[in-house]
Amino acid sequence: SGARLPVPDTRDELSALADAFNDLLARRDEAVGRLRRFTGDAAHELRSPVTSIRAQAEVAVLHPDPQHSMEVLEEVVQETERLTTLVEDLLALARSDAGDVRETRVVSLPPIARQVAARHRGGDVKVVLYAPVEVRVLADPVEVDRVMENLVANAVRHARLLVRVTVLPFGRFGRLLVDDDGPGIDAEHRDQVFDRFFRLEGDRARDSGGTGLGLALVSEVVSRRGGSASVHVAPEGGARFQVTWPTAYS
Ligand code: ADP
Repeated sequence: SGARLPVPDTRDELSALADAFNDLLARRDEAVGRLRRFTGDAAHELRSPVTSIRAQAEVAVLHPDPQHSMEVLEEVVQETERLTTLVEDLLALARSDAGDVRETRVVSLPPIARQVAARHRGGDVKVVLYAPVEVRVLADPVEVDRVMENLVANAVRHARLLVRVTVLPFGRFGRLLVDDDGPGIDAEHRDQVFDRFFRLEGDRARDSGGTGLGLALVSEVVSRRGGSASVHVAPEGGARFQVTWPTAYS
């Protein structure tokens, strides 16, 4: 038994490298797949209002009758509004995907919550706000308004009688809770509601006018600020949406 050359233990390093490489490829495939699905879903969602507008307009052209034409025009206006919402949501997501993010500022949550709650009063559903103390977070005021608007509009749409909006400090975060007394969301769908284009079966069937993009936007914009969005069960039994933003110390 003579002297031996030390065998460099390269196998571990090589396999670690291969693992890292495969991991990278898998993540790339996933990203490409996500993008393809998104494009396909977007096209699909855009097609249905366009098809409907076209069909109605064609019928109106073939049967010129003033009464019927008015009905058709009303439908067309509605479908156009739906298209506008969809296109705006798609643009917002595209901007977010492109990393086009508004500058971070100190934002006081209670006044924005008050404005949003006020916008939704006067309907059948009662909107109650509880924001007893100042809560300042690092975010963007327009973004915070949009997040609150989205959650409160959803809650009002699904509630029976009551929507409760709460803004409070929560450890190192500012927390927004939007509770409703509607049907809530099953445990199995609680993650999915934040996916792009996801809508619960009932809402899809009823075609409540939504795009299925609102909660995806909420989740994406708050995550980017270092916060989070999640859904739970409200004390009233309906849905509880929770959003957090990091606190601004000053
Ligand atoms: P939409 O434009 O359809 O409201 P969202 O992304 O805002 O899209 O929401 C996705 C789906 O989550 C909705 O279609 C609905 O099925 C469900 N959802 C959202 N908010 C609530 C709520 N407060 N109660 C029950 N279901 C909800």
